[in-house]
Amino acid sequence: MTDKYLELANSPLGKKLFAAVGLPDPVPLRREDPSQPHKLWGQVLLGASEGSVFAQSMDDFISAAGADVCRESLQNTGHLLFDASGITNAQQSEQLYRFFNQHIKSLAHSGRVIIVGHKPSALNNTEHAAVQRGLLGFVKSLAKEIGRKGATANLVLVDKGGDQALEGPIRFLLSAGSAFMNAQMLTVAAPVADMDADWTKPLLGKTVLVTGAARGIGLAISQTLARDGAEIIGVDVPQSENELATEMTAIGGLSLPLDITDADAPERLRDFCLTQSPTLHAIVHNAGITRDKMLSKMTPHQWDLLVQINLGAVQSINKVLLDTELLDNGGKIIGVASISGIAGNVGQTNYGFSKAAIIGVVESLSESCAARGITINGVAPGFIETQMTAAIPFVTRQMGRRLSSLGQGGLPIDVAEVIGFYLSPQAAGVNGNMVRVCGQSLLGA
Ligand code: NAD
Repeated sequence: MTDKYLELANSPLGKKLFAAVGLPDPVPLRREDPSQPHKLWGQVLLGASEGSVFAQSMDDFISAAGADVCRESLQNTGHLLFDASGITNAQQSEQLYRFFNQHIKSLAHSGRVIIVGHKPSALNNTEHAAVQRGLLGFVKSLAKEIGRKGATANLVLVDKGGDQALEGPIRFLLSAGSAFMNAQMLTVAAPVADMDADWTKPLLGKTVLVTGAARGIGLAISQTLARDGAEIIGVDVPQSENELATEMTAIGGLSLPLDITDADAPERLRDFCLTQSPTLHAIVHNAGITRDKMLSKMTPHQWDLLVQINLGAVQSINKVLLDTELLDNGGKIIGVASISGIAGNVGQTNYGFSKAAIIGVVESLSESCAARGITINGVAPGFIETQMTAAIPFVTRQMGRRLSSLGQGGLPIDVAEVIGFYLSPQAAGVNGNMVRVCGQSLLGA
């Protein structure tokens, strides 16, 4: 599961060769050191349009967090954070152009562009709403220009009351944890629960259930959340009992061998959780399978089995957990979708259906969850280096990797870090979001 092309492109000989032949030369992304607490890195240039409303508080909280914030220009290179909330009409968009035109060359390798604006539907003025909507097109285009540096651009849209909950999202986006989240829009609203937590160990004392935890993305999620202080209950099929037990023991977690499609699986999960703790902080619905076949050749079993694992089990487990009120007040539900559920894919009608339906689960439950102090969000990974993608034929696998603005596949930890952010109490204003973790893959963009 190594990307030889990426390694070659960054070797001394490869650099010369790739430049001479004009081949795309992706750069290794800066990632969080798993043994260290989260930290902000690099200088941050904070710009603001006239009449913007979020810049001062962002300056206060990122400075207090230890970031080196400047308001005029970067001393060398760094990140670019721009409050565009004050841009109310077409003419004023010139301020957006001017800031980035002047400073984009100072963006660091693996640097971050973050633009903050208003959620258009929260505005009464239609002209203002339209230009705020325009920010997404700007971010997506800029992300394509800066991807060769391993840099990303994302948009944060603030809904009513979201100004109180901005710190978590901005600090996450500035961190190396957001390495593969690119060209995305995150909506922040008023927090639905208490946001108090330690920034270095945000999940301390909290129990989190992760399905499909024995390997791949589920294992990375478990390890990352354990690093953040969580006690993990890892679930995987009985056939993986030994691997699951070894991995969970290594992170001080508990293992529960269980097929999530068993008729009594939701109740067994609930009962196991209740023996450990009266409350559950979160469930991460990560377990999933593919059974690729052209539709005309797909057997009923290939459809039913996949839909039952990827979707049916998620809904049955949610129902039991929500009925039991185990997750109330600060609890979190995470759906793992896929860009195949957004773009569609040949031979994946079953998978595309199930993953689009996971987006539906997040959308349909977000309002009722918020009323109980619970947030529900999702990730839609693109090409991630796991056993699932290692099984893809060579040429298709290379295309999958290169077809993103960052020119490479992501690592399981990239998905895990986004989930770690969603689960942190500081993300209590982030609800109903579905973020693609795909390096801005061209598929379905
Ligand atoms: P993986 O095959 O490496 O791991 C999936 C895990 O789920 C396995 O340990 C498996 O045993 C477990 N599992 C399967 N059926 C189960 C069941 N009935 N009960 C309990 N556990 C079960 O896959 P991965 O690449 O780590 O993918 C994890 C998730 O991310 C999946 O939902 C997948 O659809 C999604 N995803 C992956 C990619 C990628 O590029 N790898 C891209 C998009 C989405």
